[in-house]
Amino acid sequence: MHAVRNIRLCTKDCLCLYVCPTGATDTENGQIDFSKCVRGCRACVDACPSGAISLVPETLPPQQNKTGEVKARLRALAAAKARQQTLVQGLADRAESPVQRQFARALAQSNQLMAEDLLREAGYMVPQSGEAKAFLEGLLAEPQPGDFPAGAARKLLELL
Ligand code: SF4
Ligand code: SF4
Repeated sequence: MHAVRNIRLCTKDCLCLYVCPTGATDTENGQIDFSKCVRGCRACVDACPSGAISLVPETLPPQQNKTGEVKARLRALAAAKARQQTLVQGLADRAESPVQRQFARALAQSNQLMAEDLLREAGYMVPQSGEAKAFLEGLLAEPQPGDFPAGAARKLLELL
């Protein structure tokens, strides 16, 4: 286990800086220094008043096995949510009143979060699941639009 900081929750009161025995929490970029963190010490986690720091395992546990049919249904649902997101985002872009715009944006974000959850469940966001690797390889094997970030996809594949 090692500590990670959610910078969005951090109120910068610096308590974690006082308690960390190695200075791992005191970094220029706001992230906890992985190389200095004493695995599992959790002093910063207990000190943080904002719940901004948590401990994460070095490696994720194996993903629960799902049948091909369940995965296919999860992917279909995720695709439907992505289509809905595109539609309501279009409504948000054309909305005339601020209330309509805000409502449509909230719907778009909600659909995006649901699509992300469904893809995660289908294995695409867990690197060691194999699906994420196959997905990236599939993208690189197929013709893609000119602005497709092929370099980033290759780099991700190297890291998986
Ligand atoms: S878990 Fe311990 S060593 Fe790691 S950052 Fe927090 S206080 Fe520092
Ligand atoms: S203790 Fe928590 S809120 Fe305070 S600086 Fe550290 S991470 Fe941020």
